[in-house]
Formats: sequence, C-alpha cells, structure tokens
Amino acid sequence: MTNGLAPLSADSRSALALRVVRRAMPSGPAWRAFATGLIVALSLVLIWAVAVALVQRAGRDAAEKARAQAEVGAAALEQFMLRTIEGIESTFAFVEMRRVLETAGDRQSADLIAAHLADIAATNRLGLVQIADIDTNATLRWSSASAFPRADFFDRQAFLAHLGGTRGLLVGVPQIEPINRRWSVQFSRRMEDRNGRFLGIAVMSLDPVALSRDLAEMMPRPNDVMFVVRRDGTYVARSRATLRALAEEVALAAPLPGSGAADSAPLVLSATQPDQRERFTSFRMVAGTPLVVGTGIDAAEALAPVRDFARLAVVTALLTSALVVLLALYARRRHERLHARTEVQEARLAERAAGAARAEIEALLAGLPVAVYRARIRRGRGMEVTYASAGMAALPDAGKARPEEDDARRDFIARLLSGRDAAVEYPVTRADGSAVWLRDAARVVLSTEDGCEVVGYRADITAERRLAARATEAAKLATLGEMATGLAHELNQPITAMSLGADNAADALEAEGTRGIPEALETLRSVAGQAARAQTIIDHLRVFGRRDAGPLGAIEVRSAVDGAVVLAGAALRAAGVEVVRSLPDDLPPVQGQLVLIEQVLVNLCLNARDAMLKQPEGQRRLAFSARRAPAGDRVLLAVRDTGGGMPEEVVGRVFEPFFTTKPVGQGTGLGLAICHGIMAAQGGAIRVANVEGGAEFTLEFAIAEREAPAPESGLRDAPAQEATHVA
Ligand code: ADP
Repeated sequence: MTNGLAPLSADSRSALALRVVRRAMPSGPAWRAFATGLIVALSLVLIWAVAVALVQRAGRDAAEKARAQAEVGAAALEQFMLRTIEGIESTFAFVEMRRVLETAGDRQSADLIAAHLADIAATNRLGLVQIADIDTNATLRWSSASAFPRADFFDRQAFLAHLGGTRGLLVGVPQIEPINRRWSVQFSRRMEDRNGRFLGIAVMSLDPVALSRDLAEMMPRPNDVMFVVRRDGTYVARSRATLRALAEEVALAAPLPGSGAADSAPLVLSATQPDQRERFTSFRMVAGTPLVVGTGIDAAEALAPVRDFARLAVVTALLTSALVVLLALYARRRHERLHARTEVQEARLAERAAGAARAEIEALLAGLPVAVYRARIRRGRGMEVTYASAGMAALPDAGKARPEEDDARRDFIARLLSGRDAAVEYPVTRADGSAVWLRDAARVVLSTEDGCEVVGYRADITAERRLAARATEAAKLATLGEMATGLAHELNQPITAMSLGADNAADALEAEGTRGIPEALETLRSVAGQAARAQTIIDHLRVFGRRDAGPLGAIEVRSAVDGAVVLAGAALRAAGVEVVRSLPDDLPPVQGQLVLIEQVLVNLCLNARDAMLKQPEGQRRLAFSARRAPAGDRVLLAVRDTGGGMPEEVVGRVFEPFFTTKPVGQGTGLGLAICHGIMAAQGGAIRVANVEGGAEFTLEFAIAEREAPAPESGLRDAPAQEATHVA
C-alpha cells in the first residue's frame, strides 16, 4: 500500500515528452528532412547552372574576342600585302620602262633603270631577290642577277597564261632556286604594246621566308599565325613553321572566300595544319591579286583563360556546394539539438506541472475527512489497496477489524465482485483498546478476469455513529415519553386486575375459609396471568430502552411487527385504531437489528395515529402487510394508514431532519429522518407514497443469508394478535 502517488516512471516521462513533441511539430521530421533535401538539391542545381552558364558565356566571349583579333589581324595583313603589291607593281613599271628604252635604243637610260632595279633586288627591298624580263619566246631578256643564266627556271605555266592573254598579276608556287638554294615566289605580269600584242612577261622573285619573317614580327604570340596563300590554298608565306608550310596546300575547314560559297566568316582551321593546332582564323582577299591573307588566333591560347575560369568556376561551385551541404547538415544538427533541448525542457515543464497537479490533488485529498483509495479485488484473495491518499495513514488498519465483522466485510467484497456499489460499516479496535467505527464505500471502475478494480473511500464514522446513536436514543426516549400514558394504562390494567384478584382471593379465603381455596386459587391464577402480561410489557420496554441495539443479524419481520404493536398498542388502542396484520408464514428472515426495526415501526405507528386522529372513530385503520419483492432478494413491509395522506410537497420532504407539520412542542421533525438512517444502516430502505385514503410507508429489507439467531428476549413469545381493536 502506498500513501502517495507513485513518481512518474521513465516510460510515462518519455511518453509525455513524445506528446509534447507531437504537439510542437505537427508536420513531422520526415517532412522537414524532405524539405531540407529539396532546398539543398535546388541550391546545388542553381549553383551548377550558374557556373555552367558563366563558363559558357566566358567561352563565347573569348571566342568572340579571338575572332575579332583574327579579323583585325587579317585586315592589317591585307593592308600590308596591298602596299607590298603596290611596290611590286611600280617595279613592274620600271622593268617595262627599261625594255621600252632599250627597244628605243636609249641604252644609257635603260642601263640606269637596270642599275636601279638591280639595286632593289640586291638590297632585298620589298622582299624582292630578283627581277627579270622574259621575252616572247620565253628567253631571258634582262635579269637583275647577272649570274642568272636560264629562263626556263621561270614559271612556265605563268608564262603560258600570260601568253594566252592573262593581264592580271600571277603568283607562282614557292620553290627553291637551283642556283643559290633559296626559296622564292614568282610574281609575274604580261607586257604588251599599245595594240595589246604580247611582248613578254616581267617577273619578280620574292623571298617567302623574308616575307614570313615580316609576318612573324606582326604576330608576336608564338602560336598565332599570319599567312598568305594563293587562291588554290598553296602557302606563299607563313609567320610560323614557315619551311614546313611553304608550297604546301592549306587544308581548309571551309571553302575559301571567293571560291564559290560567299562566306567570309572566320573559321577554325582543321587540325591538318603543319603544327596541328586549332585556330580562330579570318581570311581576306587581297584586291587585284590572286592572293588570300589570313590570321589565325590560337584556339588553345585564346580559350586558356576560359579553361582557367572554368576550373575556377568548378572549384567555386564545388566549394559552394560543399558549403551548402555543410550548412544544411549544420542547420539540421542545430535544429535537432534545439529540438531535443526544447523537448527536454517541455518534458521537464510538463513533469513539473504534473508534480504540482499531483501535489494539489494530494493536498486536496489530504484535506478530506476521508481517505480515498483504489484497490484490486481478486476472487478468493481479498482486497489489495494499490493507492491510498494521505488520510489513510491516520486510520486504523481495516485488517484489524473485529472477527465478528468478517462476515460484513466479506459481504461487502462479494457485492463489489458482483459489480454493484457497496458500503460497509465496522468497528476496529485500536492498540490502546479504543474502538473506531469505519465506513468503506466503493464502486467498481474496472472488471477484470479474476475480479475487479474499485475506487472508494474509508471514513472514521465514530463521531457520526455516536451522534446517530444519541439521536436514536433521544428519539427513542421521545417515543417512550409519547407512549408513557398508554403504557401506564396498559400496565394499570393488569395491576388493577391483580389487585382486584388478590382482594377477591383474600375475601374468598376470609369468608369461606378452606372452602374458599379453589376460588382463591383460580383468582390467583388469573392474577399470575395478569402479572405475566405486565412482565411481557416491561421486558419489552427494557429491551427497547437498551442503548446497544445488538449486532446486525437475521430477524423475523413478524417479530418486529409484533414487538412494535406491543409497545405502541396502548397508544393505538387509546386512539381507537384498528390494527390489521397480513404477514405470510413463509417470509424469509431479513438482515437487521430487531430493536432498531421496532423503533422504526413504533415511529410509523405513532405518526399514523396522529394523522388518523382527524378521521372519525371507526375509520382509523393501520395495516401491516409483507411480501417478498419480485426481484427475489428483498422483503417489503408496507405500513398503511387511513389518515388521508399528505400533500405532494410534504411527500418529498418527510425524511428531511427537522421537517414537521406538527405544532411547536408536538413534533421534532426527527422521527422519519432517524428511520431513514436506521434503514440505510441495515442495508435496507424506506419509501413513502400516498395511497387511497391515507399514506403508505414501505420498508425494504435485504434477505439475510444466514439463519435467524435465537430470540433475544421473550418478545418472540408474545401472543400474536391477528386483528386487535381495543376500545
Ligand atoms: P414529527 O412526527 O415530529 O413531525 P416525523 O419526521 O416523524 O416528525 O414526521 C414528519 C412529518 O411527516 C410529519 O410532521 C407529518 O406532516 C408527516 N407525516 C409523517 N407520517 C405521516 C402519515 N402517516 N400521514 C400523514 N403525514 C405524515
């Protein structure tokens, strides 16, 4: 047995915490994790999309820049070539002038010009290494180099083209001169007279290596190139890898501008170039020549910053992604930690609140004048208290109840086991020998397989019992007082009869001597009969007046009715009340205390008499009738009068203490309230109802489970009066 509430178990504490968490987080941790994951994923996608977009943009920008550089380079190269061609063209004019002067016989002037031309070739001005004049039959008419013996070295195809009428500048394929083993490219032009007759061709040999060097100077970055090609794609000069490229054909990724497809857009050369590198390339036609110039910006170098940028972007994106993931993890950890802390705090708060509530309930229960308990009852194993409020400690142990009360306690438990509410009152002897009356009242809250669980209260009703006993005593005395006149009359009769009888006997003996003995004897016998009658009444009064009502036991309803009629008989007779009894012989004994039941019945008799005084004499009838209730375990005893009944509002209040309709000094208003208390204490009940002509009080008794004990007094031997009408 515990006298305090058990502290919260670990289980109930975590259950409490869970409840708190559930309240705080209706959306659930799964949802939160999903949302976090989604945000992280979206952030990563965004980061990488931005990185890719930036890299692509940088790539586009770099390519655009490289193309622009290529175009600027190509434009500059075009200008450079145009100026070179201009120089060559003016040199052609000098060659023609020399031939004209020579043909005209002005040898001196012709030699002067020849010397000038030779000087140009000797000093490599305009990159020219040799200047020559070829006549109509393809033989050398004049050359800047005296050591130049053969005309067939010159480009025969160009000669034939000019012979065939080609007026424009022709550029040959670079070749190595057989004499000095140097590279040269031949530029040639047709010469003709005023009538357009073919007069031979003028040829300039240009050093493609020197030209390539000039190009290299214009293009300082090692992998960018400038080049001059013929329209068929043959290299004439190239700023880098010159010797490998000369006379090779450029393998173009797209047709050359002007060769059909009108596309002058820069393009990336394919990887079949001498150095196998990709470039952003811009081409330009050199106006009035069969030449194309181009500038290639090395793709790898142009895009190198983009690659660096891309690498940087990837690293940045990786770092940012890692940061986002770390932040998400950190946020999650932090949230979990906070969450856990809140959980613990809330659980603590809840526990504290529960503790406070528990303390309050305990204080409340402690303040009650009773002890509240919860108990488990198992069939055949008695009652085990599982919780009891603090007040229980102050009460004596119910287990120390007097052995004679065991039956009452057993009945109490049996009643609870059958699922009904139950109450029991029993005395317990304390260690110091004093007696304490306890009341246990309980109700079943849970039926289990082997018994039930009940809640109930146990109260010390010693003072209550004492008061009730006193009230009962007072009521009893009041009843006795009320009956005194009647009883005096009742006793007066036998005493008068005895006195008369004694006188008669004495007279008979005196007058007749021994002959008078038989008459005297008879008279004395009648005196003895009267004495016995007086004895019965006095015995009854003694029992009625006793303080101790005796133990609760099995009693006969008939005995109680008879006893009451003996006591109240005189009063009833004095009022001219006819008493009728209809009590079946086979009524089972009922549970109760005889004296108290008699007290109840006497009370009902006197109230009925008072009510019937209004009625004319001859119409005052008091009827007792008993029967077994249809439910089977109860006996009902009805006490019906012809007093006219009572108003409805009085019906509802008659059992209230101090309720009376009688004039001051006559009624106490306690009689029926005490009757009610007595019946309840016996496990019975009392009810009232108006019936035809009067009121009917019904007493309800529990049928006793044991045999009725032997009668306590001569009461039971009192003569049964089936119908008594005493005038
Ligand atoms: P008292 O008799 O002192 O008034 P009771 O408690 O015995 O107190 O009765 C309360 C009231 O109930 C009475 O005053 C009366 O009005 C009513 N009463 C009781 N018995 C009867 C009855 N048999 N017929 C009519 N009224 C009754």
